[in-house]
Amino acid sequence: QPPAIMVVGMAGSGKTTFMQRLNAHLHEKKEPPYIVNLDPAVKNVPFDRHIDIRDSVNYKQVMKQYVPSDPSVKVRGLPVVVRLANGIDQVIGILEKRAPTISRILVDTPGQIECFVWSASGAIVTDALASSFPTVLAYVIDTPRTTSTSTFMSNMLYACSILYKTKLPMIIVFNKTDVQDAAFAKEWMTDFEAFQAALRQEEEKEDGSNSGYMSSLMNSMSLMLDEFYNHLDVVSVSSMTGAGIDDFFKAVDSKVEEYKKDYLPELEKAR
Ligand code: GDP
Ligand code: MG
Repeated sequence: QPPAIMVVGMAGSGKTTFMQRLNAHLHEKKEPPYIVNLDPAVKNVPFDRHIDIRDSVNYKQVMKQYVPSDPSVKVRGLPVVVRLANGIDQVIGILEKRAPTISRILVDTPGQIECFVWSASGAIVTDALASSFPTVLAYVIDTPRTTSTSTFMSNMLYACSILYKTKLPMIIVFNKTDVQDAAFAKEWMTDFEAFQAALRQEEEKEDGSNSGYMSSLMNSMSLMLDEFYNHLDVVSVSSMTGAGIDDFFKAVDSKVEEYKKDYLPELEKAR
């Protein structure tokens, strides 16, 4: 089965641009992927998509049919995820038919990942995909906007909760490295002292009312974070220039092995 790469991350991190770059790269290598766009908000998809959620289901119809019974409908964007869940069997069917002739499946997800990853419907989509294909998450991070310890931490906690929710292998993709090198972030992930030093430095700049709070929070979380970082592969890329894309595909190969070793046995047990 071809691996499926699900691209997640905060809005504006560069998911769609990253997909476009992966697509171009694979075409160049004559290993064309199959593209699934699950983001209904994109107006112009910059790559030729094979399956597009915007084509498949009558939106108004689904709103009427499914939404009133879904208690979480208050979350903006959720109806779309509900719609996805109802179309996923059809999508999987198409993918399985094409599987022998494609190298990879690339999945672009809605910008509002909180809807996608944490709703019941989003979980249906992820589980369906992951039980049919070796599925790997690519968590895209906007590196230039992650240089402060607090934005860095919120990104990591976001990624962490997605990892624990889906239990799928995850690659952290530091994007936009043409603008900002990711060395600082990699250092923070491997050397906790360096991260703490950066925290202290930022706290000294502030007026002191919160002083020490972040440090002590981080101290209590350090073991958890360490464990989390151990589960990850980390790559630096620029979706703009194409730098680092080969490293990314290498990481995908190793995560596919992890999927087979760790995820698949759990899945079979659950069946
Ligand atoms: P999405 O919301 O996560 O799908 O993000 P988009 O792919 O729409 O990208 C958001 C913005 O970041 C756009 O203006 C992109 O041109 C820009 N962008 C994406 N990747 C890169 C990159 O590698 N380098 C730079 N400099 N800009 C990027
Ligand atoms: Mg997008």
